[in-house]
Amino acid sequence: MRHCNSVFCACDIWFLLDKENHTKRKLYLASCPICNKEMALYSCVIDGEKVFEKYYYSNGARKIKERLKKEVASTMLGFKNKYKMPFGFIYGKNQEIKRKGKTIEIRQYACDFWGNKVLVKKIKDE
Ligand SMILES: [Zn+2]
Repeated sequence: MRHCNSVFCACDIWFLLDKENHTKRKLYLASCPICNKEMALYSCVIDGEKVFEKYYYSNGARKIKERLKKEVASTMLGFKNKYKMPFGFIYGKNQEIKRKGKTIEIRQYACDFWGNKVLVKKIKDE
């Protein structure tokens, strides 16, 4: 999302139900990190080809949220809370467990950029 000459990530994304010829409907939500303005970006595809995008700010953003609330199929944050699983782009992280200066175990985690991580594998070195 864009405001105050900066580009930043949405803090939540609402995935909305299709409506007539409007598909892939999404509402991106964020606050501008520079001016703190509440923002919403509505995006959809019309007739399966034309991309439509519109920004809403402050009161407008609150109004569009209120209006589209009933059409939400799922949300990014809801997904995150429901499954407690890494979501989206996932990277691996190794954590070494040491005892007396010696690595006794390596724990491999799958992490995402939302701060979720799950233990994938434990390698014991005995
Ligand atoms: Zn701004």
